[in-house]
Amino acid sequence: MNSLGLEDSYLALVKDNRIVDSSLHESASVISRHCALAISASRASVWMSQGDNNVFHCLSLYSADKDTNESGAVLEEKDFPRYFKSLSTERVIDAHRAHYDVRTSELTESYLKPLNVHSLLDATIRHLGNVVGVLCVEMVSEERKWTKEEQVFVTSVADFISQRIIADELMRREETYKALFDHTNEGIIVLSDGKCADINPSLCSMFKGSRDDLIGKSPVELSPSHQPGGQPSADVAMDYISKCLQGEPQNFEWVHQRLDGTQFFADIALNPVQIAGEDTVFVLVRDITDRKDSEEKTQIAKEKLAYRASHDPLTGLLVRDQLHVYFDKIKNNNTVNSGAASIALLLLDLNRFKEVNDTLGHATGDSVLVKLSNCLGKQVSELGGYLFRLGGDEFVALFDCTQCSETVDEIATKLHKCLKMPISLDDIKIEMGASIGIALYPDNGEDSHELLRCADVAMYNAKNNDGVTSSYDAQNDMNNKRRLSMIVELGSGITKNELILHFQPRIHLKTGDVTGCEALVRWRHPRLGLVPPNEFLPLAEMTELIHPLSEWVLVNSVSQIKRFLAGGYSVPIAMNISARNLTDSRLIDKLGTLIIEENIDPELLEIEITESALINHPQRAVENLNKLDLLGVHIAIDDFGTGYSSLSYLKKLPLSTLKIDRSFVKDMLIDSSDSVIVDSTIDLAHNFSLTVVAEGVEDQATLDELAARGCEQAQGFFIGKPMPIDEFERWLDDYYGKSQRLAS
Ligand code: C2E
Ligand code: CA
Ligand code: CA
Repeated sequence: MNSLGLEDSYLALVKDNRIVDSSLHESASVISRHCALAISASRASVWMSQGDNNVFHCLSLYSADKDTNESGAVLEEKDFPRYFKSLSTERVIDAHRAHYDVRTSELTESYLKPLNVHSLLDATIRHLGNVVGVLCVEMVSEERKWTKEEQVFVTSVADFISQRIIADELMRREETYKALFDHTNEGIIVLSDGKCADINPSLCSMFKGSRDDLIGKSPVELSPSHQPGGQPSADVAMDYISKCLQGEPQNFEWVHQRLDGTQFFADIALNPVQIAGEDTVFVLVRDITDRKDSEEKTQIAKEKLAYRASHDPLTGLLVRDQLHVYFDKIKNNNTVNSGAASIALLLLDLNRFKEVNDTLGHATGDSVLVKLSNCLGKQVSELGGYLFRLGGDEFVALFDCTQCSETVDEIATKLHKCLKMPISLDDIKIEMGASIGIALYPDNGEDSHELLRCADVAMYNAKNNDGVTSSYDAQNDMNNKRRLSMIVELGSGITKNELILHFQPRIHLKTGDVTGCEALVRWRHPRLGLVPPNEFLPLAEMTELIHPLSEWVLVNSVSQIKRFLAGGYSVPIAMNISARNLTDSRLIDKLGTLIIEENIDPELLEIEITESALINHPQRAVENLNKLDLLGVHIAIDDFGTGYSSLSYLKKLPLSTLKIDRSFVKDMLIDSSDSVIVDSTIDLAHNFSLTVVAEGVEDQATLDELAARGCEQAQGFFIGKPMPIDEFERWLDDYYGKSQRLAS
């Protein structure tokens, strides 16, 4: 074929629609056939790499003699390195004596000879500078010298294949991108000049609008006027976009507004992109409504759980644990003036709640609790405090005193008023009332646990004394630390002779004679000073210490009787023993031996026991009292009137004296019921032939009144306070005057 023929042939090939519209494989078979026929070659083939440029696969090999195309053979660089090298350095290999040409001789044995190929004309197919394939033209049976035109022709066809590849590649890419753009779930906006220049279908469905509706809109037009943080959408969006245009990609959450006005949460990514030399912003919009929803749901669930854990289900009040949390919060927020109380803890315990529950049922009990806690809760928060339900019918109110305008007492009064309010339940009205124990930080304790314990002690104190409110008082607290360490110290205190007796005189109301004295024990504590009996006796009674203690008092009372006698006075001594001393015979046995060993008149000793001692251990107590009676000592009932003992019961006991409790004597002149009790006690005592002693006489008028009512004896501060022995002896001397001594 002449050169013009080859040129026409090339143009015909380029224009062949079969190449433009078909796959690379199909084009390869069209091209290989066209080539072979155009230059009258035996065979022509197209070889291409498939990703790996060291291996070429035959896409199509046309054989003119058979007029067929085949494919599938493979050429590898490792087998023909020189050939591959030549391909990379030359555009065309015109090997007319292929068996002997250095560039192709490698192929002789395995390829050329078996196929009887003598001449090769190979042109490289390149893409982006790399050899990606080869167009091979072969002559079988004969050698052929390739003309210039033929060489130009095959290189042109090879270049055409290259272009075809590029077009193919571009098309494939575009298809991929288009698919990505069209089918991704994320909305995509190409933002140019701040407006939507292009958008994908997902974005249309996200915003519920058509392409036409959305193109040309700015992101601000697709947003509510303000973002959830309160900032104007326009300002924030401008800020993000301009940062992006300066080259910084942006990622943020955004609330968008659909064309129908509804809104949704989105994750936005802005990336700066140059398209055709123009700065544009590539916007990815991901609808995160679901994620937000589930975040919100988990948040709500979390809050619900936290609420449930910290609130009482019945009343909705904070639970016990929270008391400690709130206390710590207030304590930490509080700048405490040293020593001044800054937190008040009020423990409120309903009266008679158990009765309501038992008689009216739990449902009624519950509704009483709900009504009361509503009222109480309102009152407490009005006063600036917090209310907690500890469980059952116990509540705690906590106040930061530095923030309260009312005093703790005023607060307690208001809370009590609230709890006393009659509650209407169907057709009945219930009035509950409560006891309130108050404990203060830092006075009564360092932390909420200690304070709660103190408030509990105070509350019981209020209940026991028929009071409404009571503030914590260490005196009433068996468990306070001072007391606990005291138990340990008391034992050694007794043996180290740290106890001391004070003596309080008792006189005859008619004659004025001193009829005796009461020995009252105190403890000279090395650190605490003189400790009153009420502070350590309950501890001794709780432990075995009551035995050595009472024995100590006994021994010292006996030796004091002897000292009186030596000093010329015959003064009987009344000593107190506790209930536990009547439960075994230790003290009584000791008393028996002492009377004999010390040779004293047992009538000079009186034993005072309280009514409660008899009530708690009647049988044993009666036996021991009888033993005491046999020994010849006097027995007095102490604190009479406070222990509810029955009269018939007293009758059976070997008693000689009955002491009217101070609480009745104290107010007998002003309180008529006390006065009646004093009268009837005197009568009763006389009916049983007992001597009556009035305790706690503090003034002349009471003394006179007692005498007028027939009471024989009296004791009290008005006559004489309990005194250490020296002082008591001086008192005796003064009272009688030296002349009235019995002895000498
Ligand atoms: P008690 O046996 O009723 O003793 C009388 C208490 O009343 C004494 O308190 C005394 O100081 C106080 N008192 C006396 N006259 C008056 C008065 O006119 N006005 C007032 N306000 N108080 C007055 P004390 O000494 O603190 O003793 C308290 C209790 O301790 C005693 O009450 C007694 O039960 C117990 N106690 C004292 N010593 C002993 C003891 O050696 N052994 C035992 N087991 N108990 C003792
Ligand atoms: Ca007494
Ligand atoms: Ca008494």
